Amino acid sequence: MGMELLRRLPAVHRLLDHPVCRDLIEEHSHPLVSRLAGDVIGDLRTAILAGEDREADLMPDRLAAEVAKRVHAQFQPHYRPVINATGVVLHTNLGRAPLADAAVEAIVRTARGYTNLELNLATGERGSRYDHVESLICELTGAEAALVVNNNAAAVFLVLGEMAKGKKVIISRGQLVEIGGSFRVSEVMRASGAELVEVGTTNKTHEYDYERAIDEDTGLILRVHTSNFRVVGFTHQPPLSDLVALAHERNVPVYEDLGSGSLIDLRAYGIGDEPTIGESVRAGVDIVSFSGDKLLGSAQAGIIVGKQEYIKRIKKNQLTRALRVDKFTLAALEATLMLYRDEEKAKRDVPTIGMLLRTQESLAPEAQRLRNLLADVFGERAEVQVEAGLSQVGGGSLPTEELPTWHVTVRTRLFSLNELEHHLRHVDMPVMTTMQKEALHFDVRTIFPREIEVVAASVRDAYGRIG
Ligand SMILES: *Cc1c(COP(=O)(O)O)cnc(C)c1O
Repeated sequence: MGMELLRRLPAVHRLLDHPVCRDLIEEHSHPLVSRLAGDVIGDLRTAILAGEDREADLMPDRLAAEVAKRVHAQFQPHYRPVINATGVVLHTNLGRAPLADAAVEAIVRTARGYTNLELNLATGERGSRYDHVESLICELTGAEAALVVNNNAAAVFLVLGEMAKGKKVIISRGQLVEIGGSFRVSEVMRASGAELVEVGTTNKTHEYDYERAIDEDTGLILRVHTSNFRVVGFTHQPPLSDLVALAHERNVPVYEDLGSGSLIDLRAYGIGDEPTIGESVRAGVDIVSFSGDKLLGSAQAGIIVGKQEYIKRIKKNQLTRALRVDKFTLAALEATLMLYRDEEKAKRDVPTIGMLLRTQESLAPEAQRLRNLLADVFGERAEVQVEAGLSQVGGGSLPTEELPTWHVTVRTRLFSLNELEHHLRHVDMPVMTTMQKEALHFDVRTIFPREIEVVAASVRDAYGRIG
């Protein structure tokens, strides 16, 4: 029986004569289709030799369909858009900040052809790839000088390595944080060759704690914004300006790792307690670093700003070259930063900022629209409601902040919501949802208005796949 099946396996050139395969060759190329057709036949031969009854798979139509499937799979990218219905605005697993249209266009423009990346068009001479974006950063933060590297983790490593190698760095015990992906301030410090000097306690650190710790080997006072957790209750940290005054009196520079770093004062909109980057600069902090793709809402980058003398030193560090950012990042950063020249524009066009600032009231019509569409999908088979909920900022930013929002919820006993959630991750446009108390939740805050219909289509598709 096995031998009989083996005899019926077609030769590759015969399989390629099938109309489906001919179309594939037309669209792609002979070598590719031929190789995959060979794989299909080879795999089937192996299965038959292993004793499997694969007679049905020998049908020419079945074989050709399998070839088509494999050809198409060759061009299915792994990185795909997904819809974020989790309500976590800066979702690291979902790529953190979605870019402003202007930033996307800038990347495309820069990518398609050649650019003046390191050319000064006015003089025709070689220029620095960073000049323009750095002056924009200085303009927006009030800093004397700026530098852009690969991400903020790299920025921390670079600043410590340049400013405090072989020296002591004083840090409050309450700020020895671990950022997602096991990035620990204490480990980075060790790796950069700086010696960690912890002062104060987990909840309280006083100015005199710093004062007593400063000696001739002190290279830096480091302040780390505790971006992903909060110590509440009986707590104390000296005001930034007092710390700066003390440090400068003793000739020690202050470096603040702001983590998120916002250019807009979100407190003015009732969100969080995050100081702006400009405030740190104005308080006299010598070096400040922050991420490009957290609250700033742009591309992944680490931005370092501060006093000219220090930034100059850091730029000369060999590591800076290794941490260089590419032209796409610079294009996206420039386009995003330009929007911040007009706060109204930033609020409207930088998706991260827009999503954070949307009021619950403004989200209601979209929630209602999605509810109606999903009610249509499920008919009598599920209960679809709009319920008040809370969104999160995410990305290790403003950890305790909860933004009132509307959730569209799905409840049912007639089919498995876990199965629906599973299929929602496998449809053409995956939708990331959350399961809370036996209901599937869609937070409309992080769904772009243009995606509401797409979410409904994905749900319809996923629902159709439930066995
Ligand atoms: C997020 C964060 C970092 C790391 O920034 P990346 O841009 O993700 O590398 C470093 N320090 C703090 C305080 C952070 O919040």
